[in-house]
Amino acid sequence: MLSATLNPRRSIRAHLAILIAAFLLPAVIGISYFVGSRSVSQMQADKGMLLSEAAIQLAAHMDTGLYERWREIQVFAGMAEIVDPKAPLARKKQLLETLKNSYPNYAWIGFTDTEGNILAGTGGMLEGKSVAQRSWFQEGKKGPFLGDVHDAFLLAKLIPRDPKDPLPLRLLDVSAPLISADGVFLGVLCGHLSWDWSREIKAQSLAPLQQRNLTGVHILNHEGKTVLGTGDVASWPDVSNVPSVASAKQGMHGWTIENWPDGKSYLTGYARAKGTMGSPGLGWIILIHQPVDEAFADAVLFRNQVMIVGFLVAVGAAAWLWLALGRTIRPLTRIAEIADRIQKGEAVAQIPIIDGRSEAHILSVSLNRLVSTLADRNADLAAANTALEDDIRRREALEQELRLAATYYEASAEGIVVTVADGTIASVNDAFCRITGYQRHEVLGKTTSLLKSGVQDDEFYADMWQLLRDTGHWEGEIWNRRKDGRTFPEYLTINAVRRDGEITHYVAQFSDLSDRKAAEEKIVQLSTHDTLTGLPKRIVAMERLSGLISEARRDGRLVALIYVNLDGLNRVNDALGHHGGDRVLVETAQRLRQLLQPADALARLGGDEFLIISSRFMVMAEAEALARQILDACSQAFFVDEKDTYLTARIGIAFYPRDGEDPLELIRNSHAASVRAKEQGGNIYRIFTRDMDDEAVARHALDAELRQAMNSDDQFKVFYQPLVNAQSGRIIGAEALVRWFNPTRGLVPPDRFIPLAESNGLIVPMGRKILATACADGARFRKHIGSNFFMAVNVAAAQCADPGFLETVSKCLSDAKLPPHCLEVEITERTVVGNNPTITAFMTALREAESKLSIDDFGTGYSALSYLRQYPFTTLKIDRSFVMGIGDVEQDDALVLAIIHMAHALGLEVIAEGVETTEQQEFLRDAGCETLQGYLLGKPMPADEFMALVQKA
Ligand code: C2E
Ligand code: CA
Ligand code: CA
Repeated sequence: MLSATLNPRRSIRAHLAILIAAFLLPAVIGISYFVGSRSVSQMQADKGMLLSEAAIQLAAHMDTGLYERWREIQVFAGMAEIVDPKAPLARKKQLLETLKNSYPNYAWIGFTDTEGNILAGTGGMLEGKSVAQRSWFQEGKKGPFLGDVHDAFLLAKLIPRDPKDPLPLRLLDVSAPLISADGVFLGVLCGHLSWDWSREIKAQSLAPLQQRNLTGVHILNHEGKTVLGTGDVASWPDVSNVPSVASAKQGMHGWTIENWPDGKSYLTGYARAKGTMGSPGLGWIILIHQPVDEAFADAVLFRNQVMIVGFLVAVGAAAWLWLALGRTIRPLTRIAEIADRIQKGEAVAQIPIIDGRSEAHILSVSLNRLVSTLADRNADLAAANTALEDDIRRREALEQELRLAATYYEASAEGIVVTVADGTIASVNDAFCRITGYQRHEVLGKTTSLLKSGVQDDEFYADMWQLLRDTGHWEGEIWNRRKDGRTFPEYLTINAVRRDGEITHYVAQFSDLSDRKAAEEKIVQLSTHDTLTGLPKRIVAMERLSGLISEARRDGRLVALIYVNLDGLNRVNDALGHHGGDRVLVETAQRLRQLLQPADALARLGGDEFLIISSRFMVMAEAEALARQILDACSQAFFVDEKDTYLTARIGIAFYPRDGEDPLELIRNSHAASVRAKEQGGNIYRIFTRDMDDEAVARHALDAELRQAMNSDDQFKVFYQPLVNAQSGRIIGAEALVRWFNPTRGLVPPDRFIPLAESNGLIVPMGRKILATACADGARFRKHIGSNFFMAVNVAAAQCADPGFLETVSKCLSDAKLPPHCLEVEITERTVVGNNPTITAFMTALREAESKLSIDDFGTGYSALSYLRQYPFTTLKIDRSFVMGIGDVEQDDALVLAIIHMAHALGLEVIAEGVETTEQQEFLRDAGCETLQGYLLGKPMPADEFMALVQKA
């Protein structure tokens, strides 16, 4: 965590900078200073020594020079000719001149008499003058004498002077007594040494110093008075009291740094001339001095140079160190940066390998290895992490599922029972207890066989267990037994729970189908059986008939169809009301039943029509006998409302195989015979003969006309009947219904020609035209009604079975630019009977294209419910025959409610057809039926009229 905030480069460089600034530079400068200063003091000492030595040398020179003059004067004073009193004075003067010329610095040489009067002098100077008071005479009488320097007041006027010399002529006196050979004191010989002598000596001794610009010299006499200085006399400071002079006075020599009265600091070398080889010297003090700043300028310069060099060296070293460190650090920094990036979770970068054989190289290689190891580990970790996360997610999902499952388990309306592999009950939920009537403790530990009803045989269970073991799943309808012994149907789903491939548990889930079964049975009952008489309807009769026909075909038997028609029922209805008519019908059904054998089938086909089907007759006459009995039974009085009422019956009989091969044809023919019986006055029976088949003749004629009509453009028209939202009352769709305007027959109803077109195949091209027209008109209606508008189009089985039909549908839609969801295809149950794979595929494809699919005329077929589950219907159309009974027939109300309820349970919308009264409308609306259709809301009408209606709304 911390490393993220640490920039290693900054850190190391910062440390380096601090190191350099705080230690290295001061150290180097300090060392340079120290070294410089050490050299300076050394140089100072050297220089001091130099000056001191110069002073000593100068003193020595002076001593030597004076000694020479001293000896010279003594030797001269001892010369025979000089001390010979008899020697001529001129000769002596000549000798004086010779001596003076032998040494340039003799300013004057002369001698006195015993009294101190000068007898002779070089250049004749001072002759006759008295020097009796001078120290050189006074002292010279006693012995050789060296006199201190003094101003030459007398000689100054006589001796030519260097005009540049600012000083008055100063002289040094060297004197010695003149003693004759016999030891008589004759006088004193004296040489005046000019001060130039000292200058010369000074120049000689200081020459080496002067080359180095060291010029300051002070010469003080034994009294401390300056006798010779550098520069102007006026500028000579009084140095009589400076420390060097004090030291010199004590006979010491050396050097010192001292302040002079002129305010300057001087390096001063000092020494005293003490005389030599018997010569006493003058006791002069020599100071050779130089202002300190000048004297040490070199040293300071040197020191400064040392420091500068030191500083430069230090800076250079620091810079080199900085760069070198930078160069060393840079790869390390890069490594650190990459390490940072890695730490931040960036995709693993490679640690760069640093070239060379440095430690950094070794480090980078190791780090590189470390990083790739880490990366590998990271990847492993990431994988593990992902796996872990997945696991956690799965667990969470599982927990969620478990919670849901637990909730579902307890709250479920379905019974749930969990068993271990051998079928022992491990757990049951509340619904289980509610449905079966068992309490938990009564079933736990028992096996599920305690629920067995006995309805299914052992083989059934064996198959079930086999399937469960093989596939882990079983579902289906099964009958079980409650605790109280009553059996009940349930829809059971069993799933095996496996662990490591082994089945450990079974979870069985079931819903009590009792209610639904009852509803289904009711629907089937209501739709297949006449509610009034309880007799099967036409559809059942047809089924039964085809069954008997196939049997009869096998064993060559006869099947008789006895079509019974009551005449006069309308009259009864008029006289006694519907109730009276109903009573008569129920009574008739009973009388007919009594005349029949159990194997005979009796059905009610319509209002006053019954059909008897029997295969027990060996000859036709037996059927005729029955017919007569029926006529007789029907002509008996009906006791209704305390009154006897009379009716008659008429009967038409047809036989298989004599009068036809298929059920429809046979029924039609038996009906035709009954029509003939009516024509002949009623209360008689007639056996079908070919000449009765007007229908067939008529159909034949119609067939020809239909084919013709197909070729003309204007005979078929498509009418549209509004489909209305039950809640809002707004038109939301239309059903396309074809109309045939026959030039000679006028309007032929579709019920007459559609079945014909279906049987002769014309329905396929006709349907195509109808669909195209309906789609085009639908697109126009939709513009006014809205995007949810839909066009319902009836499609016959033959159309669905046509492989090209799906393409026709999509072409019609795209030509009309009508979206697929705006088309609803209506098919009847008859279409799906038989499980034609082409039709099934058509339905599936249609749904995939998002068009709607409705089951038309629902309730008129036979096994309606199974079709609803099996095929992808979106809509159920309740047949008009049920709607008609709403409010009138109690069972119809119940039936309609049951159908709507069931449709909704299956996720289907409901359209009710044939709504003619507001009572029906309200009933259907309140029952939750979504869409209504019927004359009350709008009859089928031409497209323009429909358009006008829509625009008006
Ligand atoms: P369907 O599909 O059941 O059509 C509804 C029939 O009930 C229509 O008769 C309609 O006029 C009628 N109807 C609607 N409301 C009421 C009402 O309130 N009271 C009464 N009494 N009747 C009402 P339509 O137009 O005569 O058609 C009869 C049958 O002909 C249709 O029954 C349908 O099966 C068939 N059909 C009609 N047009 C076509 C078509 O274009 N193609 C195919 N394949 N069949 C069609
Ligand atoms: Ca229809
Ligand atoms: Ca219908």
